[in-house]
Amino acid sequence: MTAHQWRGVIEEYRPLLDIPADTPAVTLGEGGTPLVHSDWLSGVTGGEVWLKVEGDNPTASFKDRGMTAAVSVAVHQGAQACVCASTGNTSASMAAYAAKAGITPIVLVPEGKIAAGKMAQAIMHGARVIMVRGNFDDCLKISRGLAEHYPVALVNSVNPDRLEGQKTASFEIVDRLGDAPDFHLLPVGNAGNISAYWLGYQQYADLGHATRRPVMRAYQAEGAAPLVTGEPFPNPETKATAIRIGNPASWKLAEAAAAESGGRFAALTDDQILSAQRELARRDGVFVEPASAAGVAGLLQDLEQGESYAGTTVAITVTGHGLKDTATALEGFGPVVDAVVDAEVEAAASAAGLS
Ligand SMILES: *Cc1c(COP(=O)(O)O)cnc(C)c1O
Repeated sequence: MTAHQWRGVIEEYRPLLDIPADTPAVTLGEGGTPLVHSDWLSGVTGGEVWLKVEGDNPTASFKDRGMTAAVSVAVHQGAQACVCASTGNTSASMAAYAAKAGITPIVLVPEGKIAAGKMAQAIMHGARVIMVRGNFDDCLKISRGLAEHYPVALVNSVNPDRLEGQKTASFEIVDRLGDAPDFHLLPVGNAGNISAYWLGYQQYADLGHATRRPVMRAYQAEGAAPLVTGEPFPNPETKATAIRIGNPASWKLAEAAAAESGGRFAALTDDQILSAQRELARRDGVFVEPASAAGVAGLLQDLEQGESYAGTTVAITVTGHGLKDTATALEGFGPVVDAVVDAEVEAAASAAGLS
């Protein structure tokens, strides 16, 4: 007997993905991420709250689900190079999949706003990193221009193959829970992911694999909340850099997902997001990057505002790993080390408060 080894999202779900049937998969084994029960948030809500831990993907964010599809299709169609605009995770993921496929990754990032871990990933995987004096939205404009005029494939989430890959997260949640949750909460930046989740939930319900579709609730940072205000933010600002986007490419699809599911968008302060990040790490053992905590912060805000999740099943996507941006994570702390002692058991015991 051979144990089943997860084959990556294309091979696990190929018949359900709208990509050319004969596309060979460029895969790093993405997907199949844990759905972790949150004892903390289940206790707080009186419901069952599950965390879809996407930091457990090969490059430590959900972007890998979409990138396996986008890079596989691009390579199948003959691409020698690929390009993306990125707040960090898209470039980390693209660089890894391009390396696996043997094509050139070209990365456009906004000057000075990329977390160190994400930059390290792009560099290690051999990306050509170009810093743009501008924000993410400027980078996306330029990437589109490059793809239009030069032989490079654009793999931002405006590429529909990305959403095909990313929708597999919904499949996995339903496969694990036995049905769709009542609510699905997640952070939103460029809005590809909420659109992909909604695609996946609808497809599974249409196929009879789920009896319902969840209400989609999505959260943005107050300083970058175009889906909440209905207006683009020319100068988006938030410490949650992965959602520091002022003019989401999948705006229309995201609005449709919220409207069709009976859901909505809401904004959070950076303090709410960073506090949820710390609480999640301390209470549930799940360390996520700041943006990734927005769904959890959103749930807590909803409760404060009198919303009830009692008796319901809630899935929250935590989108990327905390190790990508340790600088922001540690900003809120004073001295990182509690005590320095001589190399003696008693000294350590006393410093640790043991008696
Ligand atoms: C990309 C990203 C987001 C935002 O996802 P969109 O599809 O752009 O809405 C949120 N969190 C993390 C960690 C990300 O990398």
